[in-house]
Amino acid sequence: ERARLARLRHTPAVTLDGVQVDLHANIEMPVDAESAVAAGATGVGLFRSEFLFMNRDGELPSEEEQFIAYKAAVESMKGMPVTIRTVDVGADKPLDRLTVNELRHEHVLNPAMGLRAIRWSLAEPSMFRQQLRAIYRASAYGKVRLLIPMVAHLSEVRQILETIRKVQQQLTDAGHAFTRVELGVMIEIPAAAVMLPLLLRHVDFVSIGTNDLIQYTLAIDRADEAVAHLYDPWHPAVLQLISQSIAQANAAGKGVSVCGEMAGDPDFTELLLAMGLRSFSMHPSQIPAVKQRVLRADAQRLASALPRLLESEDPRATAEKELSAARSGA
Ligand code: PEP
Ligand code: MG
Repeated sequence: ERARLARLRHTPAVTLDGVQVDLHANIEMPVDAESAVAAGATGVGLFRSEFLFMNRDGELPSEEEQFIAYKAAVESMKGMPVTIRTVDVGADKPLDRLTVNELRHEHVLNPAMGLRAIRWSLAEPSMFRQQLRAIYRASAYGKVRLLIPMVAHLSEVRQILETIRKVQQQLTDAGHAFTRVELGVMIEIPAAAVMLPLLLRHVDFVSIGTNDLIQYTLAIDRADEAVAHLYDPWHPAVLQLISQSIAQANAAGKGVSVCGEMAGDPDFTELLLAMGLRSFSMHPSQIPAVKQRVLRADAQRLASALPRLLESEDPRATAEKELSAARSGA
């Protein structure tokens, strides 16, 4: 079993009909990049940078501290892409004893709909510039991609682009090296999925955060036990949004990946391949199981089953029937 897993690690993720698939890793700390490489990841699809900001007893990481962390992850990946997401704090990921604007985070009725992620970054411009400078500086050491969480408005994208221009100028003035960094936004809010063609004009890639996309599409708090039975990745509305986002990004020639839990769950590998997904990002421990699914899949046959699945009132049952027929040995 050990030897088989080791062999699997070096086997490229290619479907039976020759479609190449990227299996990237989600990481929380720079040291996790080592497990990513060990698991056979071909890149980091999601570096949740907020973990550098949490459990710190009050002070936030400086630009220098962040730069060192991002550089470490980038160097561990040896030229493979590292997608760094700007801080996604708030809601289920609170900053304990926040030093900045503490009051804004107290007594909020709906934190998941409040000042979190990019909203928080744009409300703290100097903190945001600091993080962007650290990320851009790390780009001198490998292939860095920048990912923005929880985008819902074009005005946010414009502010991000404006801030990036400012930061690049600051780095040039200070004599810091950096290279081109691709910009991506996360599709986590239904509004972003619905207006994807407009967003795609301004970004290089998108990454679908299914954990939040499901939460906001179905209005189900992802951390609330009382409604956990209604948190359903197979819900037809969820599948429509994911499928349509992948198709639109592919049609626009822009990169698209899924970095929510669905990407690391082998029960969804065939479904996502059927939708045209070619880039998955997951916890490193899930890579072997997902890779095995990819190796046994026929992407063309899967794609032809997709319309029936999207029209079905019970997509899970339909997938069970239709997608397994496209599996080798079936
Ligand atoms: C997601 O929402 O699917 C996602 C990947 O982001 P997080 O789980 O960190 O909110
Ligand atoms: Mg999210």
